[in-house]
Amino acid sequence: MHLKEKNMIDANQFKGHEQVAYLHDKKTGLKAFIAIHDTSLGPAAGGCRMWKYDNELDALSDALRLSRGMSYKNAMAGLKLGGGKAVIIGDSKTDKSEEIFRAFGRFVHSLGGKYISAEDVGISVEDMEIVSEETPHVAGLNKGEHASGDPSPFTATGTYIGIKAAVKHQLGKDDVKGLTVAVQGVGHVGYYLCKHLHENGAKLLVSDINQAALDRVADEFGATIVATDEIISADADVFAPCALGAIINDDTIDTIKATIIAGAANNQLARDEHGQKLMQKNILYAPDYVINAGGIINVAAETRGEYDETWVNKKVDNIYNSLTAIFERSKAEKRPTNLIADEMAQDIIDRAAG
Ligand code: NAD
Repeated sequence: MHLKEKNMIDANQFKGHEQVAYLHDKKTGLKAFIAIHDTSLGPAAGGCRMWKYDNELDALSDALRLSRGMSYKNAMAGLKLGGGKAVIIGDSKTDKSEEIFRAFGRFVHSLGGKYISAEDVGISVEDMEIVSEETPHVAGLNKGEHASGDPSPFTATGTYIGIKAAVKHQLGKDDVKGLTVAVQGVGHVGYYLCKHLHENGAKLLVSDINQAALDRVADEFGATIVATDEIISADADVFAPCALGAIINDDTIDTIKATIIAGAANNQLARDEHGQKLMQKNILYAPDYVINAGGIINVAAETRGEYDETWVNKKVDNIYNSLTAIFERSKAEKRPTNLIADEMAQDIIDRAAG
């Protein structure tokens, strides 16, 4: 196979990016990329992912894709932050050490505040605490004057508000009372989302691969447990993916009975064109990075130098208006919500760039 095909990276992936940095720290063995997509709105903020990439080009490709996603997410959340992402090549179960995170911290610091790091897949708050000893350009911490703590409850609140916006647009109802919501994954975000939904009168169907997590929501919120392969096609008004990415794909899309998909999981659509197909099936899709922005809003409060809960709540509440604007434009222009969201985000960035 041709090398270019094998690694699936091409010049288009650099479209819109400002800077990409690579570090191979020979002493610790750390190999990492930091991709800065855009800083028109402010410093590029986005988590650091640690993953067993097959090679450097796969890691670079992921950093380019994820950093663009962060620009869009931060723009739509109304934050004065650009988009960036770091990826560390390695196994988060076996390859972590204090030295590696110190080296990563120095790498972040070398960019002079253009990139602000935080946790992502494979990285814990404890890892970021080590990073923060080498650079102040870190957020998502538990300790310190302006630490914002666990972002999950804020992500869940934003997702609940987003479900309400979708319910209003699609079903003309002001609340979730009496509606059935199928929640896939009742971990950090899913648990708090179930709490909001239960407290506001929704019926819950839940699935997870963790029995203890399921028992907890069944006990506390009267949720009905559904098999993991049946949750997507469950008889529900709303499907709320809160576990995995790419769950809307060629195999699942025709089995969905809910007329609303609104959940916290990242990258829910396997491919962009699944957004078009959902629209054709009259299923309203709440773009993932817009509805799940509560966590990044809370983390962003840390970067303002002063944690202000009122500011956070106002921004999280505004997820309702952002989604409503997307839904209305999608309806008027007969184009899928995921594409409308990307365009609106790009417009915000372009306007800031002047
Ligand atoms: P989590 O790991 O705490 O919870 C995920 C849950 O999904 C776990 O309980 C896990 O057992 C379950 N799960 C795994 N495979 C499953 C399957 N096949 N079927 C059903 N359940 C399955 O993660 P989280 O922090 O709650 O995040 C959930 C999703 O939301 C992720 O996609 C994450 O990227 C996204 N997200 C989270 C935040 C946040 O603030 N935590 C912010 C934005 C986006």
